[in-house]
Amino acid sequence: AADNVRASNIAKIKVVVRKRPLNKRELAKNEEDIIETYSNSLVVHETKLKVDLTEYVEKHEFVFDAVLDEEVSNDEVYRETVEPIVPIIFQRTKATCFAYGQTGSGKTFTMKPLPLKAVRDIMRLMHHTYRNQGFQLFVSFFEIYGGKLYDLLSDRKKLCMREDGKQQVCIVGLQEYRVVDVEMIKELIEKGNATRSTGTTGANEESSRSHAILQLTIKRSADGSESKPPRVVGKLSFIDLAGSERGADTTDNDKQTRMEGAEINKSLLALKECIRALDNDQGHIPFRGSKLTEVLRDSFVGNSRTVMISCISPNSGSCEHTLNTLRYADRVK
Ligand code: ADP
Ligand code: MG
Repeated sequence: AADNVRASNIAKIKVVVRKRPLNKRELAKNEEDIIETYSNSLVVHETKLKVDLTEYVEKHEFVFDAVLDEEVSNDEVYRETVEPIVPIIFQRTKATCFAYGQTGSGKTFTMKPLPLKAVRDIMRLMHHTYRNQGFQLFVSFFEIYGGKLYDLLSDRKKLCMREDGKQQVCIVGLQEYRVVDVEMIKELIEKGNATRSTGTTGANEESSRSHAILQLTIKRSADGSESKPPRVVGKLSFIDLAGSERGADTTDNDKQTRMEGAEINKSLLALKECIRALDNDQGHIPFRGSKLTEVLRDSFVGNSRTVMISCISPNSGSCEHTLNTLRYADRVK
């Protein structure tokens, strides 16, 4: 990508869909792949029953900015989604990349490699294009679970949020590391991801109920040197959202599960509204709807760019969840 790309040349919102391959379990059950993909559209083949119980197929077509099928590598996903927005965080722009979808659809598989690839490009820009201009890179990694914040780079320490009156959100006590090389960020990402999944109730169960947020922040001292405290220039956030089906856990028998489900539902709805408001250039961004959108407030105001990666499972058993994910993505677009 060209290093001198301007933010104004990049769409405010980009929505791509990524379809994962059928897994062993689905293949063993002879499940069908019901997703037919094209370069920027896809068709879902939904099998339905008539009143006389004979089957028929209903086709649902969706169009997005790009559709990435099961052959597409993580490198290609990066090139299509994050690579174009990396240069603009040096130009006072905030950019956010979300992974949305049901549990098991490939959100973490998709999101996990992206920050590392972005850091490689950011380091290259800092050492070449912006050499000796005083730019510094920082990383933080936290999760929102049940409406509360936990630091993934400091043993899930509980955090709280404060607004500074200048539309900046401040997460009190959040550990922020200065990134000096790619090796370091690799370790921090591993550490954060491990911290995320070793909760009390078991790995996947736990992570499907939380939003994980990794933020890369570009800062710079006023005079371009490192003598004064650096100020934020731009930010790139990577968000591995809670399983979208969890938002439906609002009638579960377990009170805790029900409350978490309600919180997830609220946050995913608020997120959709905020992204839509961004695109319409509305003055009012409804970020107060949930912890997730409040935390992302500074990425919603001012100059910002959003990439939504909607992850879908190909199997017939996931049809309903897949349609829900695609309809959500369609509303955001
Ligand atoms: P989620 O985070 O949405 O719950 P995961 O990312 O954990 O889902 O993916 C579920 C499983 O599917 C994992 O074992 C993952 O390695 C595998 N998987 C997901 N996407 C792909 C893909 N595009 N290609 C190959 N395997 C994938
Ligand atoms: Mg996951």
